Amino acid sequence: MASAFSQCIEEACGRRQESKKDAHLCAYCGGLLEVKYEFDPFDPESLRFAWHQRRLSGEPVDRSGVWRFRELLPFVGPDDRIISLSEGSTPLVGTRRAGWWAGPVHLTIKHQGTNPTGSFKDLGMTACITRAASLGVRIVACASTGNTSSSMAAYAARAGMRAILFVPYRQISAAKLAQALDFGALVIEVGDTFDQAFSLLRQIAGEMNFYLVNSINPFRIEGQKTIVAEMLEQRAWRPPDYIVVPGGNLGNASAIGKGLRELKELGFIEKVPRVVVIQAAGANPFFRTLAAGSEKLLPVENPETEATAIRIGRPANWKKARRILEWTGGFCESVTDEEIFEAKSVLAEDGVGCEPASAATIAGVRKLVRSGKIERHADIMAVLTGHQLKDTDYVMRHRSSVEECRQRLRVEPNLDALRKALEGVLAVPA
Ligand SMILES: *Cc1c(COP(=O)(O)O)cnc(C)c1O
Ligand SMILES: [Zn+2]
Repeated sequence: MASAFSQCIEEACGRRQESKKDAHLCAYCGGLLEVKYEFDPFDPESLRFAWHQRRLSGEPVDRSGVWRFRELLPFVGPDDRIISLSEGSTPLVGTRRAGWWAGPVHLTIKHQGTNPTGSFKDLGMTACITRAASLGVRIVACASTGNTSSSMAAYAARAGMRAILFVPYRQISAAKLAQALDFGALVIEVGDTFDQAFSLLRQIAGEMNFYLVNSINPFRIEGQKTIVAEMLEQRAWRPPDYIVVPGGNLGNASAIGKGLRELKELGFIEKVPRVVVIQAAGANPFFRTLAAGSEKLLPVENPETEATAIRIGRPANWKKARRILEWTGGFCESVTDEEIFEAKSVLAEDGVGCEPASAATIAGVRKLVRSGKIERHADIMAVLTGHQLKDTDYVMRHRSSVEECRQRLRVEPNLDALRKALEGVLAVPA
């Protein structure tokens, strides 16, 4: 049996943690923790075959895009109950216009919007709630820009746990809030920013005995890393040149990097794609920190962007993500809300919908090709992190003006008026 332990990521410390109960920070220096394994020796070829075969199985754990790769997650014991909602197994979607617009590049999308609650957060949540269940946890909590809460609420309900979420007042989309309420979570609206809500939660979680499921919880990262195995399998194990993700708290970028690192160490891949992180210009602390070569995070005090899923000023996982960019030779770019909107519109022309934060990836690729950092015709995998219907307010704000986009007309209910209106619009080529 492979064995699992957690270890501090700080170079100066790096100590293994002894406690049986999960702490999320190093007991010695307060650094972030990472789950590590002493893997049993693998034969990549037969494991690839087994993973592939499981897709045909009727067993829920085999069909889950996370647990199908359970050899990569050996923190789960044979008697642990796996809390799954059939997450993962998300599609790869080729692009036409979007790849042309952004490059030209060979742009393929890994669309995480088809997960049970509509975002990639479900990959991490199944792992983290499974872990919590094995520890006998009763109450889970998170601070969230929205999707973590929808996901936590669903998986907590599934596991029979109470879910409590801290959200900034009036800052999360109606759809995400509705999901959390629908799954019976307790919603605490507190503070004006994610960072404020998160900081308060971290201070009170200990005394209230809440199990934190934010992405500082290293088990979230474990679940999220499986996207790499799934994506590579879908590509017959040919790695792309780049994997591009939007960056908020930087858990996803860290997870993708950890997945790549383990698959490389275990002999599944030779070449490692560069991991590229895209932030919104009004919430780009990671971009600034790297650009300045700073050893300390340069936070953004009042992050501002319409892409609410990445409106974060103090990303908790920035050190993990920096390490990944260094290791893969990747980089970080920052794009304006206008560029995000344009990218989202181009994706829509390909029939692909997503959240604004997800579209930042494509906007970033375009900018990086323009500046010569990404070569034309590169093979690029963009992770679209969330479903189109997560933020319909955004679409209505941008698309409903009649005069500008000729998409929405109000017409008097008679045939003459209808004819006139239709002829008027259709006379102009779309
Ligand atoms: C959470 C989230 C992000 C940001 O991911 P991090 O791991 O916090 O960097 C991006 N897009 C969507 C849709 C999200 O829900
Ligand atoms: Zn430490």
